[in-house]
Amino acid sequence: MSSPSKPAVPSPQFHNTLTRAKGAFVPIDPTRVRMYVCGPTVYDYAHIGNARPVVVFDVVFRLLRRVYGDAHVTYVRNITDIDDKIIQRHLESGEAIEEITRRTADAYVADMRALGALDPSVQPRATAHIPEMIAVIERLLAAGNAYVAEGHVLFHVPSDADYGRLSGRSRDEQIAGARVDVAPYKRDPADFVLWKPSAPHQPGWASPWGRGRPGWHIECSAMSAAHLGANFDIHGGGHDLIFPHHENEIAQSECAHGGAMAHTWMHNGFLVVNGEKMSKSLGNFFTVRDLLGKWPGEAIRLLLLKTHYRAPLDFTEDGLRQARDNLDRWQRAIQRGSAGMDKADFEAAVVVAPTGDLLANLADDLNTPGAVAHLNVLATTIFDELARGEDARARAFAAELCAAGRFLGFLSRSASEWFAGEDGGGGPDAAEIEGLVASRLAARKAKDFAGADRIRDELKARGVILEDGPKGTTWRRG
Ligand code: AMP
Ligand code: ZN
Repeated sequence: MSSPSKPAVPSPQFHNTLTRAKGAFVPIDPTRVRMYVCGPTVYDYAHIGNARPVVVFDVVFRLLRRVYGDAHVTYVRNITDIDDKIIQRHLESGEAIEEITRRTADAYVADMRALGALDPSVQPRATAHIPEMIAVIERLLAAGNAYVAEGHVLFHVPSDADYGRLSGRSRDEQIAGARVDVAPYKRDPADFVLWKPSAPHQPGWASPWGRGRPGWHIECSAMSAAHLGANFDIHGGGHDLIFPHHENEIAQSECAHGGAMAHTWMHNGFLVVNGEKMSKSLGNFFTVRDLLGKWPGEAIRLLLLKTHYRAPLDFTEDGLRQARDNLDRWQRAIQRGSAGMDKADFEAAVVVAPTGDLLANLADDLNTPGAVAHLNVLATTIFDELARGEDARARAFAAELCAAGRFLGFLSRSASEWFAGEDGGGGPDAAEIEGLVASRLAARKAKDFAGADRIRDELKARGVILEDGPKGTTWRRG
């Protein structure tokens, strides 16, 4: 099953939406491999469907770092902090826009870390890149790909002969699919907004076309170019972004800068509930935050990786239970396989353990189900070796399972910590937390702020984090 020496890392093959085929991944510059993934619009908590691209591209990031070296991979995941949904939320709740976006972006970063995702190299915010957006729009105007109409700047789709290449949509489908209300000032129904005017009560920035704000698509063209350059290796996101978002990003970036925006386009399939895409608008969603109150982040992560990223993923709580049981089994196999071993010796064995089979799976278009199956085989092998009295072999496989699991973002806790957390040992249960949250609220109402802070600190010491928002206090296990 495993060879004693570390095998060479296989070159990755990825499915490219642009070519509709799996092909060898060849970076433009192997000393500077660059990936951009569209991040969240920060007006509300992320649901577990939103977490799917984060966890999937986190594994791509980990694989690229292993193949090309940590210092040679740059991963950009943006934060969209200007959008009409955010303005709408502000009008509904009265909370300041900056407060909504700061609070939601912080929650997003914390939630994604709790799912074992590494922080991207850069997390640019749209509002910090308005001058770059204006500059791209000016280039498009100068090149004849855009026009100004009634305070708006629009991209003129017929000016780009390559438009539609990514999605493969015909012109009729583009117009129908764009679902844009065909404003009278549009020269063509498929034209889309680069810049739009802001009313006095809406956020806006000074521009050559008056006070206004950017369209969504131009944000990613400007932020990717600012942090990765005009041409980079991988662009990712959920399947729903292929059209119109990514099609429009390509049109803007390639008309403004020339060359291919990204060489490889990767898209994850939907997370579905009873066959329907999980989404805020359908109301069939579970926030990551709520799930983290009940399930370990690693169980959520494993559920997301047990299905191949391009296939639909059916979300059920039973799936989470199975994922947690699966993690229990890995932990138990490592615990038993390494029993009697000095901790430092075991850690040293983990560092040199082979991960070739794991990497071969990941290099094959991110075959995470294959990788998980490989870890399950290792666990079975450990139990078999122990049953045969082959303790030394069991130890070697335990180190291999631990190395592979950690590479995938699992097994961050020791078995004793893991099982203690699961039994509720040490951590308060949900009923107790809710009770303390209510007591804290009562203390605050009575202006006993020191008492309220004491409750917050006590919960923090027991691994529970409280967050105050416009709808009250929420909690999560930290
Ligand atoms: P949004 O905030 O809706 O723009 O979504 C952020 C990211 O989550 C995008 O990459 C979407 O494609 C992705 N996404 C949203 N809903 C789902 C879902 N149900 N399954 C998988 N990915 C999704
Ligand atoms: Zn984007």
